[in-house]
Amino acid sequence: PAARPVVGRFAPSPTGRMHAGNVFAALVAWLVAKSQGGEVVLRVEDLDRERSKPGFVDAVQRDFERLGLTWDRGPYFQHDRDDAYEAALGALAARGLTYPCYCTRADLHAASAPHRGEKPVYPGTCRGLGPRERAEREAAGRRAATRLRVPAETVAFHDLVQGDYAQDLARDCGDFIVRRSDGAFAYQLAVVVDDAAQGVTSVVRGVDLLCSTPQQIHLQRLLGLPEPAYAHVPLVVAEADRRLSKRDRDAALDELIARLGSPEAVIGHIAGVCGLAPTSDPATPEQLLAAFDPARLPDAFADKIQIPWR
Ligand code: GLU
Repeated sequence: PAARPVVGRFAPSPTGRMHAGNVFAALVAWLVAKSQGGEVVLRVEDLDRERSKPGFVDAVQRDFERLGLTWDRGPYFQHDRDDAYEAALGALAARGLTYPCYCTRADLHAASAPHRGEKPVYPGTCRGLGPRERAEREAAGRRAATRLRVPAETVAFHDLVQGDYAQDLARDCGDFIVRRSDGAFAYQLAVVVDDAAQGVTSVVRGVDLLCSTPQQIHLQRLLGLPEPAYAHVPLVVAEADRRLSKRDRDAALDELIARLGSPEAVIGHIAGVCGLAPTSDPATPEQLLAAFDPARLPDAFADKIQIPWR
């Protein structure tokens, strides 16, 4: 088949204001797409309706705009996409790949299998429940999440920043949730359905999502969807080894702009510290684009990036 046009994406969750780490990932996403003549879509990831706030949706768009991080399509909203997620879930269920899971948080904690790496492995408690056991749990008022049965299969891919990465789905991950017990579709499912529907070929995001990628690739294969290229960029850390969060006010974009004087100063500073540019002089994304080479991404980055705030 003919090569697909390059499409990158911004996928902010509107649960807070942008911080330096979000800006860094978005800047790299923009540079990777634009340096290949591609476009960028904006997708607002508001699956979590409790934590998503309209004020943050507006703020995040204004923040991208003032940073010069332009998008060509969107915003698309996950809250508009229930039918698409439902259809994907239906296709998986029709093949017998899903099952209801009644485990509470406490059950999961108690049963938590010893795990390697970042995330606990679901021990499969509800995998083999029969109709009667399910009915008992329903009758007791338990609400079920939906899990995907994963095979003992290794999913491997090449990450443009992290290099080769592989995960044994059964051993390292376990059956994972595709719909939560409160009815919300899971991030893993939504992101795969949306990336495909929006033509995304290039995913650039923080390395905290690296261990989710094999789940997403597994879902792409089951659903017959194309696999994008992945680049997981280092996290920007606050002091020492503590990762940034939206609660770190010092790293909040507004605070950085106030301190450094302009959006261009923030972009230039982040680019310089992160190894995307030879200096930390103020710059627009457009100016950085001239010297940006996506093939040189991996050695441009430090392992973890600490921005000297003060
Ligand atoms: N919405 C996620 C975030 O804001 C990003 C998910 C992704 O890039 O796949 O951290």
